[in-house]
Amino acid sequence: MTEEPKATLSAPPAGARCAIHPALDAQATCQGCGNPMCASCAEQGAVAICPACRQRTFETGPFPYTREHWSLDGLLSLCLSRFKAHYRVLMLVCGVGILATWVIAAAGILITFRLDPSHGTHLGKHGALFLQGFANVVQTLCQLGCELLAIGVSLDVLEGRPTGVDAALARLRRFPAAVLQLAVIYAGVAALAGLLYVLVRVVVSSRATAASLPLLVLGAAIVAVPAIYAGLGIMFALPELMHEPASSPLSALQRSFQIASGKRWAVFGIALLCGLIGCSGLLFCCVGVFATLPLATLLYCALFLTLKNHTPRGQSESANPYWHV
Ligand SMILES: [Zn+2]
Ligand SMILES: [Zn+2]
Repeated sequence: MTEEPKATLSAPPAGARCAIHPALDAQATCQGCGNPMCASCAEQGAVAICPACRQRTFETGPFPYTREHWSLDGLLSLCLSRFKAHYRVLMLVCGVGILATWVIAAAGILITFRLDPSHGTHLGKHGALFLQGFANVVQTLCQLGCELLAIGVSLDVLEGRPTGVDAALARLRRFPAAVLQLAVIYAGVAALAGLLYVLVRVVVSSRATAASLPLLVLGAAIVAVPAIYAGLGIMFALPELMHEPASSPLSALQRSFQIASGKRWAVFGIALLCGLIGCSGLLFCCVGVFATLPLATLLYCALFLTLKNHTPRGQSESANPYWHV
């Protein structure tokens, strides 16, 4: 919130008029396009870039927000501008993912139905169960691959890198690491579920019927609170894995915890908002998800970048024109 801006602005040529407001005298020169700007365009000397350049960089420039400087309003308008500027590649990548997930889910249901022992199959109950499990694993892996693609393209769009099919497919290099990371997360979930199971068994076997229900609720809360805490902590593990090509599954999990640390309410709120945006597409005969899912992914990745980036030490607000957008 310091005021020390005017020193960074370059003076306009003598007698120059504002490029956007020709009736007004120019007070500074835009450092983006070189056009003269009036006091209002330069926000009384607070910004060094004209509104047109700000709008343009807002659509395609580097990611503007940091952990110290961001707002939900800013994130939403940034995601909307970037979505408008890159909707084709975003919708293509997410759309392929959605379609693949649907197809595999349908195939899984069909296989399960066809192999149902009551329909006279020769596989038997165990064979059918095995095939169903196999279908689930394939679906999970396919979904993970699609998530990698969607997150990778979203990060490219948000950080102003060129996007394309090649760049998107190159992202799949992180697939083995992502599978390993998912296995670690599943192991954690299984451990928590095991803990809950043991708790339930203990409560049920204690036969203290009057006290058992509150005890069970207490037990569930004891498991649920750290589960939600840890769940919010690992929310950025996949984007981190994509963002840092050299990171390992475990180091990305650890870094995700650091990124979410101290910001869990913001993460919780925006995760909820992403879920709402993503699901709102289902209201429009399901096809809406082809637009709302990429937008939700963009917002999720934008939050990741915001909380990961730090404002350089000693940099004043005037150094970053986006903070005024
Ligand atoms: Zn300009
Ligand atoms: Zn002007």
